[in-house]
Amino acid sequence: MNIKILSDDIVNKIAAGEVLERPSSAVKELVENSIDANADEINIFIRDGGKSEIIVSDNGDGINSNELGLALRRHATSKLSLENLNNISSLGFRGEALPSIASVSEMLIKTKTKNEAQGTSLEICSGVAKAIKPVNQKKGTHITVRNLFFSTPARLKFLKSENYESLTIKKITQKLAMCNFKVSFNLHINNKLILTTKKKKDETNHNLLKNRVTEILGNQYLENCIYFDETVEGFKFLGYLGVPTFHYSNTNNQFLFVNGRVIQDKSLNVLFKLAYRDFISYDRFPQFVCFINCPRSEVDVNVHPTKNEVRFKDIKSLRSRIINLVKNNLKKVNHFASTINTKKAIDKFSRSPSQRSIELKDISTDSSSNTESINEKLKSKEINEEKILPLGFAKSQFHKTYIISETNDGIIVVDQHAAHERIVYEKIKSEIYKKKITTQILLIPVVIDLDKSTIDVLGDLLDRVKSYGLVIEPFGVDSIIVREIPGILSGCDVKILTLDIINELIENNDSKSVEEQINKVCSKMACHGSIRAGREMQINEMNDLLRKMESTPFSGQCNHGRPTYVELKLNDIERLFGRK
Ligand code: ADP
Ligand code: MG
Repeated sequence: MNIKILSDDIVNKIAAGEVLERPSSAVKELVENSIDANADEINIFIRDGGKSEIIVSDNGDGINSNELGLALRRHATSKLSLENLNNISSLGFRGEALPSIASVSEMLIKTKTKNEAQGTSLEICSGVAKAIKPVNQKKGTHITVRNLFFSTPARLKFLKSENYESLTIKKITQKLAMCNFKVSFNLHINNKLILTTKKKKDETNHNLLKNRVTEILGNQYLENCIYFDETVEGFKFLGYLGVPTFHYSNTNNQFLFVNGRVIQDKSLNVLFKLAYRDFISYDRFPQFVCFINCPRSEVDVNVHPTKNEVRFKDIKSLRSRIINLVKNNLKKVNHFASTINTKKAIDKFSRSPSQRSIELKDISTDSSSNTESINEKLKSKEINEEKILPLGFAKSQFHKTYIISETNDGIIVVDQHAAHERIVYEKIKSEIYKKKITTQILLIPVVIDLDKSTIDVLGDLLDRVKSYGLVIEPFGVDSIIVREIPGILSGCDVKILTLDIINELIENNDSKSVEEQINKVCSKMACHGSIRAGREMQINEMNDLLRKMESTPFSGQCNHGRPTYVELKLNDIERLFGRK
């Protein structure tokens, strides 16, 4: 075989293989072109999962009629020059998307700039362009892509069901719309409006973003997130972080943007998971919308044809910045638990209207005594009014497991074990980190027999165990003696606690970072030192727990990300009883 230069057509088809994985990639490229052209209104129409038709129409700058042919040539771009090679501000710059899409589809472009009286259209079939014609078109660009991949059957076969392809288009559109929160988007799939976002003028970025998050993810998302806006050494971080109890089984609602680009980079998303790991079980995912803006010289955007990934000059610093950002912001959450659980509770309480009306009748016969009891309640509320405590006052315990407390505007149900576990966990952890662990000397030291293999490896671990507040010494040939335990764990079963911690350290010796190890040990200890479900509590003990929850960071969730309490607002209760 002789060596020869590949024809443009083949080169474009190869590029299409890289740039276009599936219909959603074409949507992304076309929308990014619209954004680069300063459009503030973008309409997308999809048919058959994008396989038979994709239309992206914008009100942007348009393409000059004498340049339209050029736009379809490979490596033809209006966005890159020698001067801005290392300082790219546009989303596109490789000049690949249009020729790639055109080489594997039937494409029709209609476009008009503001200075032209008339629009121009160009039809391309499988990379072969027809004549450029005048056309009726308002300022902007309207691109129709039909029968994508029809000329590359291998790729066509690799596509999934219409539903799946439509869903990925919806997801990428959500991301693009979130990222470009000043632009209005409408996505129609098979003539149905699936997503709509409005442009709003004269609003602050915070308000625009807030509005966009609600448009795309709904009110509930916003309710369960905290806003952040911080700049650390030239890196600006802005967005929303979900509270730890607001987790998901997948990463769909994780939105990450770098310098205005939609980024789908697992290695970055994983940092968020790391930062939440203390609060969320390993198989659940935190929710966030995060914009990272940094000097362009700090990040290389040209690492992948689809531009989904970027490379940071100093990824190490960025990693710790992201982890610190998340941790510091989550500290502010304190005892806040996700409202999702409250909603679930209300849904459980709510009954069918017919059932409710019967029960209301029953209650109404006894309405006088009902009012009386409410008036009593009101009095006690007045007394407490002077001191507003977020978690209210304990009223009683039920099933020896849950505490009911009355707050200013509702009631709270606390899972006593989960809540106490979190408090003990945070306390032990902070004592260990400050190297100030308070221990309790056991009146009667506990002797524990161990098997030989455990004794052999234990020697090296005794110092480490001591730093966790467990003072253990060898005792004879095959036993140890426990002399002190962490003060907060007084009353626990010393033998089970010690064996649990020793096993944890032996099993994970060196395989985990010191921090991970400490967290793991704390979590084990917390479990041993907490009030069990099933233990009766006195009112003052319950109030004590509530006050500790209020002052303990992250007390809204236990170590596994489950909520420690749910709240029912009076408003909701009134709704349940049909009073509102
Ligand atoms: P790139 O975006 O990397 O420049 P493309 O192949 O996506 O490459 O687009 C080629 C050129 O066509 C762009 O540089 C731009 O000048 C023009 N273009 C494409 N889409 C639009 C659009 N919607 N509005 C205005 N110009 C466009
Ligand atoms: Mg482009």
